[in-house]
Amino acid sequence: MTEAIAAARGEDTAPNQERDLRDLSLDELEETVVAAGERAYRARQIAHWLYRRNVDSVDAMRDLPAELRTLLNHRFRLAPPLVATARRSDDGTRKLLVRLADGEAIETVIIPAGNRITLCMSSQVGCAMRCAFCATARMGLHRNLSTGEIVGQVVAARRELGADEVLTNYVFMGMGEPLANYPRLLRALKVMTAPWGMGISPRRITVSTVGLPTTMARLLADTSVNLAVSLHATTDEVRDRLAPINERYPLKQLLEACSRLPLKRRGRVTFEYVMLAGVNDSPADASRLVKLLAPVRAKVNLICFNPFAGSGFQASSRSALQAFQAILHRGNLTATIRESRGRDIAAACGQLYAEPHPETLSQ
Ligand code: SF4
Repeated sequence: MTEAIAAARGEDTAPNQERDLRDLSLDELEETVVAAGERAYRARQIAHWLYRRNVDSVDAMRDLPAELRTLLNHRFRLAPPLVATARRSDDGTRKLLVRLADGEAIETVIIPAGNRITLCMSSQVGCAMRCAFCATARMGLHRNLSTGEIVGQVVAARRELGADEVLTNYVFMGMGEPLANYPRLLRALKVMTAPWGMGISPRRITVSTVGLPTTMARLLADTSVNLAVSLHATTDEVRDRLAPINERYPLKQLLEACSRLPLKRRGRVTFEYVMLAGVNDSPADASRLVKLLAPVRAKVNLICFNPFAGSGFQASSRSALQAFQAILHRGNLTATIRESRGRDIAAACGQLYAEPHPETLSQ
């Protein structure tokens, strides 16, 4: 018997709202409503209210029978994603500090650019990967986000948008290593892409990883979303320093795994490369990168480094950035420069950092 059925059939009368209603898959919603004596189609009605109408109260699901609403209220939480603060950058970027039920917090960033509005989502509270150029790494890993907390960021962001604004792209490049929270990430991606869920095209979703080879392959087999791999260096010596996961999966092993990925119709893997002055931005690095990526269907995203207190790194100069890009182009690599967005509100790449709420934690 699944947890959902057990919850629906539970004979105790005390509310047991430990599970977020947004954590349930469609199958589990169906099992819940059927176990409550209702027809299975009620599950799709619930999902419609959750993911299309973005309600945060079971009582708002007006077409459900009163008894079913009572049962759902009794058995599940439907905590609205609480945006504690929303800061707006001069360039229109908005950073949301989303407070979670246990007092922890995550950051989610809305990035408008041209006719796109991209949502940069978090997958964990903090991160265990220790990348040297990243503020989130300073937090360490507090915990994984639940499925409901991951998709709740979309709900929270939608509420922050104006009437004429629509999210067009979704990137898992916020706090955390998404593939280290794979089961919940996968469920969240299903909710985001399923017709019964948010109905977002998987082509508009990109999952960025520091490079966990086995789970990368699973992601591409299990979904149709895009993959980005954070490379950041062209030698093991430098990558060990910038992204310590390299000690476990050195460059050769990582790139061999990338060359074997089942890309299907995706086209190419994006490689992220943060440009750090005097560390990884020399012409020799650019030439090595061309050689390293030759066996992979690859494109490169050069990221302007966003300094934060105590990082110990400097951003590459504009001329170094352009010279690096030119070498990649001559090597027939598509390479774009990702300009810094939201830097004035510490919302840019590598700058996300959120403290738990001390009062809530002590309750
Ligand atoms: S860059 Fe990404 S994987 Fe690395 S520490 Fe920061 S959040 Fe974690």
